Amino acid sequence: MIRDNDFIREKSIPGPTKEEIRCLVVCKSAVSKEDLVVDIGCGTGGLTVEFAKRAKIVYAIDKNIDALRLTEKNLNKYGLSEKVNLINKNALKALREIENIDILMIGGSGGDLSPIIEKGYKKLKKEGRIIITSILLETPSEAIRTLQKLDMTIDVANISISKGKITDRGTMMFANNPITIITAKK
Ligand code: SAH
Repeated sequence: MIRDNDFIREKSIPGPTKEEIRCLVVCKSAVSKEDLVVDIGCGTGGLTVEFAKRAKIVYAIDKNIDALRLTEKNLNKYGLSEKVNLINKNALKALREIENIDILMIGGSGGDLSPIIEKGYKKLKKEGRIIITSILLETPSEAIRTLQKLDMTIDVANISISKGKITDRGTMMFANNPITIITAKK
């Protein structure tokens, strides 16, 4: 797993997803080297890079061209750009061009969460997984409702992580924001 500080970053672009959260997402996705992964809302490319290391091919989608450029920089840094197709479109438009998805990662949806899940589900292979990371309280309930309608098997995990900072007096813990990871299987 790549350290947070080893990603190239820009102030205006969110991410990278914190290392411990990337660990859990990768683990829960059960990604293998045969998989086709779609990363919706690639941002800094934190998750795109981790999936590119482990999957057959990754489609990284972001509506913000600056996010795609930053993701590309991070892919180049780790020699992974050949495995990734970068698509500068809204998620719903981009999904039209993609079939046979093994893993659909949704890290940003901009108010279109349910339609993205529904459209993605149609493109998802049998046994395919949808993973949603959320920092907002409203997102998990909308996601769960939509995934239930599609009759998917759902796992919900709420993660609160504190990281230690070593000081002269001892190790002081700093809390990160809680994140919900929803994993659903077709
Ligand atoms: N997982 C990323 C961070 C995601 S930030 C990382 O580890 O680096 C969320 C991103 O989702 C933002 O860059 C935003 O532009 C994008 N986004 C939000 N809604 C979107 C949509 N409907 N279609 C495409 N991209 C979207």
